[in-house]
Amino acid sequence: MKIYISVDMEGIAGLVRWDDVMPRGIDFAANRLSMTEDANAAIDGAFAAGALEVVVEENHGAEDLCVLDMNRIDPRCEVIRGAGRPGATTMAGLDASCSAIFLVGHHASGGTFPGIMAHTISYGGFREVRLGGKRIGEADFFAIRGGELGVPVALCSGDQMLAQQVSELSPAAETVVVKEALGNQSGRCIPPSRARGMIRAGAVRAIDRLKRREVLPSADRSGPYDFEVALRNPIGEAMRSNLDALSEYTIVDDQTVAVSAPEIELGFRRVAYLGYADRPGVTRY
Ligand SMILES: [Zn+2]
Repeated sequence: MKIYISVDMEGIAGLVRWDDVMPRGIDFAANRLSMTEDANAAIDGAFAAGALEVVVEENHGAEDLCVLDMNRIDPRCEVIRGAGRPGATTMAGLDASCSAIFLVGHHASGGTFPGIMAHTISYGGFREVRLGGKRIGEADFFAIRGGELGVPVALCSGDQMLAQQVSELSPAAETVVVKEALGNQSGRCIPPSRARGMIRAGAVRAIDRLKRREVLPSADRSGPYDFEVALRNPIGEAMRSNLDALSEYTIVDDQTVAVSAPEIELGFRRVAYLGYADRPGVTRY
């Protein structure tokens, strides 16, 4: 059994504000270690419950997606990190050989309130991302990609709003709530040392459920995927001329862009492009 773990930072135990997950924050070095230890808790639970292989993939967009402390991560796993990965850029290690997806330290979708650092792909750029008219988050991309490959989401850790959203995507998934969101940058936190015990126990339970075939891959969607991205700011000149050159994008109104894709990894790239499409002349994604 091979477990795929995507590790993000916004849902790590004890962290509530943007400066907690940015290199400029006073606690960034300590918080990297917290991220690493939350991942270790999930890795340890996975191996204890019978996993034979664990692949960890970094999902947090600071420092070119190299945030985990490589000297502290559990030596039994392997880690995928760095920018410019193929496919959806944060799912390079997810393939049909994986038995389950664990989302550690993840966060609720853009537009969620309360929801600690809730966003979808681009916090600064996107107010929310919709798929088929429904607001989605990064967890949805993992669930859908997992569905295409036959791999279920079996565990998440983060705040209660992430837990609620993952439960809708994968009803039998273990949801470990390490903090209760009170706003978008505030929450009531379980201290990390206790939260890690909960993550480890959740990972064990998740694998038990997996063995009993109670956790199933997402099956309710298939391509083409029709996205709408509600931008935080009006579309400027540079973005407008970039999008005019790319026939797959449609400007719906001055703050909304529609884009479709036949499969979800390309969909992710096309949505993510809108986070940097305001750079003059940048029309590659
Ligand atoms: Zn992140």
